[in-house]
Amino acid sequence: MMGMGLVVRNAVVLTQDAGRRVLKDCDVLVEGESISRVGKGLQGKAEFEIDGKGKLLLPGLVNCHTHAAMTVFRGLADDCEFFEGWEGRVWPAEKRLKPRHVYAGARLALLEMVRSGTTSFLDMYFFPDETARACRELGVRGVLGAPIFDAPVVDGGTEDTFRKSGGEGLVRFGTMPHAPYTVGEEGYRKAAAFAEREGCVLHTHVAETRREVHDVKKATGKRPVEWLESIGALSPRTVAAHCVWVTRQEAGILGRNGVTVAHCPVSGMKLAGGGVTPIPELSEAGANVTLGTDGAASNNSLDMIETMKVCSLLQKHSRWNAAAADAGQVLDFATRNGARALGIDGGSIEEGRLADFILLDLRHPNMLPVSSVGFAPLVVYSANPSNVCDVVVNGKPVLLGGRFASAPAEMIARDAEKAVAELHWA
Ligand SMILES: [Zn+2]
Repeated sequence: MMGMGLVVRNAVVLTQDAGRRVLKDCDVLVEGESISRVGKGLQGKAEFEIDGKGKLLLPGLVNCHTHAAMTVFRGLADDCEFFEGWEGRVWPAEKRLKPRHVYAGARLALLEMVRSGTTSFLDMYFFPDETARACRELGVRGVLGAPIFDAPVVDGGTEDTFRKSGGEGLVRFGTMPHAPYTVGEEGYRKAAAFAEREGCVLHTHVAETRREVHDVKKATGKRPVEWLESIGALSPRTVAAHCVWVTRQEAGILGRNGVTVAHCPVSGMKLAGGGVTPIPELSEAGANVTLGTDGAASNNSLDMIETMKVCSLLQKHSRWNAAAADAGQVLDFATRNGARALGIDGGSIEEGRLADFILLDLRHPNMLPVSSVGFAPLVVYSANPSNVCDVVVNGKPVLLGGRFASAPAEMIARDAEKAVAELHWA
């Protein structure tokens, strides 16, 4: 067994496999990009050896809706109503964006994502080649695309809207019409045809605000989800962010078409949308429910651990039902379902799957006692990013013992501050 890339020894493994097994004192061997063996006392040496004793190993979290580079606009629209914040502040500031700002913001976002246990993400933002460069450098997996608008927002930011998806390595591209209130029928039809031909994700915002529902209904005579179905924009390749203001009938449409819903509870509440994405109805209808943070201008963190907890709390609280969105379901949203949405052969710790996983330190005070609770509730309700000690993506260590394996974290922070100063909004 020589030549292994990486081995984790004696961890508690929350597999997220079909049986949701938990394996104690378990080793995980990685060869190349994939998990090659999972079991006790596995023999052999590896280039990287992680002591998993006292740690919980689980699949890396999948952030199914964000705008990574918007870390440079963190704080720009705080305490603002959605249209006031976006039309009044964010969109004007974005007009000044250059590729180098996107690169700087994306690199900062990746540091934050890794520290909070995210190994892959779905990103809609301008100059996606810059975000791709950041992903390859820092070793994080991304499905990326520039937003498509009928009326372009950023000069030169949408030139590569339709591009070959490719299947290589860490980065793939998708097609991303922005939203039903900014993109008309032709834009969606083109994107749907492209996604079908290229086999890539079609990512869009849907039914985020009541105003959107009102405007789309006025323009088309249909509610957003009904309209998207009528023009052929819904399929298992579609990842629809938000889906807050959907009727029971629209939940049925999303389920019937095998659509993925990327629920963003933190940005939805911070922007005071007033509605709650109907997770039980969407799940029951057969939609693939996943979670996203949304961008740093509306969240303001990119913390998927927090997002899992808020998702569960919001459903419980609004439904008067403490059993709603239980920890096991929510962990599925952030792992298995997310991987499925992005076409990643991961989301569980099993032989043959891509080696995208994280380790949480079970010896931290907020993770104790370990014995008396289930592990999914421990992750969803008790954990926070400070517990994330090791992160492996595509078989490579990105974070080891709380330190970045190769990312120049201090330089990245400085560059991001420089980008913010250049954008002179702060
Ligand atoms: Zn968004």
